[in-house]
Amino acid sequence: MQIDMHTHVLALAADPEFSVEYGREGSLCIYRSAGAVPAHRMPTEDEWEESGFSRKGWPIIGGAESMRDHPGFDKIVLLSVSPQWLDGRLIGTVDPTGISGVEGPPHPEKCNDYIAGLVRQDPETLVGFASVNPAYQGPEAAVEELTRAVHELGLSGVKLYPMYQHWSPDDRELAFPVYQCALDLGIPVMFHQAGSTRIDASLGLGRPALLDDVGREFRDLVVIIAHMGIPWQDEALFLLTKHPNFYGELSYLIAALSPRELFSFLHKAEPFFVPLEKLFFGSDYPGFLYDPVVLRDKLLTLNDHAEPLGLDPIPRHKLEGIMGDHAAAVLGW
Ligand SMILES: [Zn+2]
Repeated sequence: MQIDMHTHVLALAADPEFSVEYGREGSLCIYRSAGAVPAHRMPTEDEWEESGFSRKGWPIIGGAESMRDHPGFDKIVLLSVSPQWLDGRLIGTVDPTGISGVEGPPHPEKCNDYIAGLVRQDPETLVGFASVNPAYQGPEAAVEELTRAVHELGLSGVKLYPMYQHWSPDDRELAFPVYQCALDLGIPVMFHQAGSTRIDASLGLGRPALLDDVGREFRDLVVIIAHMGIPWQDEALFLLTKHPNFYGELSYLIAALSPRELFSFLHKAEPFFVPLEKLFFGSDYPGFLYDPVVLRDKLLTLNDHAEPLGLDPIPRHKLEGIMGDHAAAVLGW
């Protein structure tokens, strides 16, 4: 079984100009590190064009496009992004071209409807995770929306974005009702509990350790730490050690580490008391560094680095398990 636990679709705003600016902001550090734009000042319009980052933006990715780019995968998790304010603009998953089949003008309050619309097009392969933002219209509205997203729309989990939405995951008043709701609904909660290259994202609210109280209070809740907490991957590992129902998803980390570093990271998990059964593959597709096929090959060939590093290979079934069997076992897929 092969599962990509972390993918995105559609757009964050109907306006293509916004998507270009948003993409540039998040990619600036990447283009700078690659030497494609100046490191000591903001690039000019011409320099952006020369770097290959054009003003055209990206094609809208729907279910069909995602499946085309995931050959051999059995399941692809599509993550919704709930409404949030960014510089006075309401953003969140929208479908500007109508491919999800949801009618009416694009609006982030319909984020979960868009994801459900795509899942209906191939429910065997596509798995939808809802999103709610308890800081948008309060915890009661978030609980109501999450219940609707699971009972009426048939979504299978929830993705939360505290650092982007400026709330703390250990906020008992704002956030705990959402966790209780997820527990009652029997769905997993995935947190973007990791860094972000966005200036507006609050790094302090991204610390994996903020999930400790969540695990202490909601012992039976299945929690998935997205991006394995990068750059706090040891902190995330320790949460997986401590909390029996916590799991980690490898997107971003799997792209940022060299194969040797990734091998070493996985190699140290079990001595750190984290069984590799707790780790799931994710790509963060369609980000341009996040080709699911390339990342799958990287993971499955990691044992090439065992001998040069003087370490034992990782059992093949455990690497294959990270590719999907581990998540399938936990989530009952
Ligand atoms: Zn993501």
